Amino acid sequence: MSSSPSAASGALFDRARAVTPGGVNSPVRAFRAVGGTPRFMVSGRGPYLRDADGNEYVDLVCSWGPLLLGHAHPEVVEAVSAAVGRGTSFGTPSEPEVALAEEIVARAPVESVRLVSSGTEATMSALRLARGFTGRELVVKFAGCYHGHVDALLVAAGSGVATFGLPDTPGVPRAVAATTLVLPYNDAEAVKAAFAAHGDAIACVITEAAAGNMGAVPPLPGFNALLASLSQRHGSLLISDEVMTGFRVSRSGYWGLDGASEGWRPDLVTFGKVMGGGFPAAAFGGRADIMAALAPEGPVYQAGTLSGNPVATTAGLTTLHLADEAVYERVDAVAASVQKMATAALSEAGVPHVVQAAGNLFSVFFVSAPEATSIRDFAGASRQELHRYRAFFHALLDAGVYLPPSAFESWFVSSAHDDAALDRVNEAMPQAARAAAAARPERT
Ligand SMILES: *Cc1c(COP(=O)(O)O)cnc(C)c1O
Repeated sequence: MSSSPSAASGALFDRARAVTPGGVNSPVRAFRAVGGTPRFMVSGRGPYLRDADGNEYVDLVCSWGPLLLGHAHPEVVEAVSAAVGRGTSFGTPSEPEVALAEEIVARAPVESVRLVSSGTEATMSALRLARGFTGRELVVKFAGCYHGHVDALLVAAGSGVATFGLPDTPGVPRAVAATTLVLPYNDAEAVKAAFAAHGDAIACVITEAAAGNMGAVPPLPGFNALLASLSQRHGSLLISDEVMTGFRVSRSGYWGLDGASEGWRPDLVTFGKVMGGGFPAAAFGGRADIMAALAPEGPVYQAGTLSGNPVATTAGLTTLHLADEAVYERVDAVAASVQKMATAALSEAGVPHVVQAAGNLFSVFFVSAPEATSIRDFAGASRQELHRYRAFFHALLDAGVYLPPSAFESWFVSSAHDDAALDRVNEAMPQAARAAAAARPERT
């Protein structure tokens, strides 16, 4: 048996680091932001994850969003097993991909969709399509919004001032980053100014439908509508990135919570996460006339060996068929409960914080009192006292509750989170809140 609660994970991490950069296949998994040993999971069931040392956790990450129904939902597992038995990839069209596209078109503000394998591929392709369709090159994005690791989108603003992007990472050519204009999120005046200065050169504005990749930062009322109207007036396209929010915060995504009632539509929408049901499936879609510019119908090239894969699309389709109003009600209720538990415990322990939600996405910002009203952009999110999150995270981990291993992430729950799982979270909170209260900044 293991001598420490993470001995087996530690041994696996050592093996992983010998053959993989940083020991992980996606950076945040490495726990760099919180310290310690990443847990290697061996199984998931409903709201629970089990690691290589046999520890069980209530999972508040849900694979970073996809698992709306929880781990290993029996009907999804059954449908996927049957699909695997029929063959794992054909390299031809097949029925499940048509059915999944029909389901997406029925739920979301898109007339036509192309399936791909990751959210990154979806945003990359949507960007190319927007540029090809408009014949323009400039892209507007918002600081703190993440759209996958696409070259032109891996740029962020320096200090809330509109800047032509400098690459966020080595390897992105300056010439590519220079086609991206980065603005502060939720800043209507900055958007108006950008369109006034560059309107006829802007191919598209890309925004998270509600920002979830700097913690949960909902759009201010009317912000998305403004993006839609300014884009339309200037002949630019609005790309609403619903990779995180799509089919999670409502049956038609975040648009179902704002655009549907406000009466505007994005030109293109990107999807991923939930629509793959835990498998690599994603999509981009939109107005039929724009989508018709894609090959083989039009000149804008885009392709994929495993696009529309029959196993992945079966997982996604089964998940969406199961995601009825009762599922969304349960996920909303679970999200509200966890927020209430966190707030109660942190307030009791005297820890300054703000809890924010965008639909059933939410996160806790550890910001000190004077600014503790609301976080509306990346500059606000960056004021967090990260040492408090680290302490809070590890205390919950030790108590069997798995939070995102970074303060700049949303928390995700599922319809499988039952009252027993919620009780475990509630029992773990007071001690974690006290750990956050006692935390001191690390010297560096
Ligand atoms: C996760 C995410 C992506 C990237 O999706 P991957 O499947 O990780 O490539 C893009 N946009 C948003 C809003 C996301 O949350």
